[in-house]
Amino acid sequence: MTNIILLGPPGAGKGTQARILVERRGMVQLSTGDMLRAAQSSGTEMGLKVAAVMAAGQLVTDDIVIGLIEEQLAKGGSGFIFDGFPRTLPQADALGALLEGRGDRLDAVIEMKVDPDALVARITGRFTCGNCGEVYHDQTKPTARPGVCDVCGSTDLRRRADDNEESLRKRLFEYYQKTSPLIGYYYAKGALRPVDGMAEPEVVAAEIAKILGPA
Ligand code: AMP
Repeated sequence: MTNIILLGPPGAGKGTQARILVERRGMVQLSTGDMLRAAQSSGTEMGLKVAAVMAAGQLVTDDIVIGLIEEQLAKGGSGFIFDGFPRTLPQADALGALLEGRGDRLDAVIEMKVDPDALVARITGRFTCGNCGEVYHDQTKPTARPGVCDVCGSTDLRRRADDNEESLRKRLFEYYQKTSPLIGYYYAKGALRPVDGMAEPEVVAAEIAKILGPA
């Protein structure tokens, strides 16, 4: 089955597209950001260690996130969406080795191209349902009833601690400095598939579906 990376800056729509792929193709989303937030809320030693780094919008160390991905891959399965991983060249090398070690491969790296000017507005307005994960936005996609998730009716709507303008600036800086070199890395491997991340989510989803072929 297909394994892909969703590559793009914060606010490019990686999480939204990953949700669609999970729902429509039964793929498995591996988001290192979600794993790190889960470690924080369950209060593990590692979670506490990375909390300040994440809140400041910096990257956590390669060995931590590579370890998290290794753990997930060791559980078996296939059809992975790597969301927010890899974010550095050493992470990309590690992922290649991990997949090769299990006789698997990377089928496509979807580069979600976005206008950096749009990202601040996208990120500072976003919130998600803590129960079902649906993603909302104050201006572009508010809930029908204030404070209540349209999908599951939960009132547990959350904003991320790092979705503020100051952390976002740092996250963007980290992206352009440390993660964007992966665009060249995967281009050289013939794996890069750019899509227009500024389009509506359904249009982006259709573009990705075309790249991946029949489900
Ligand atoms: P995300 O949910 O993908 O936006 O990630 C939130 C935060 O978690 C990032 O700003 C980093 O602090 C940390 N993080 C997530 N994935 C990685 C990664 N692959 N490498 C380093 N730090 C990461």
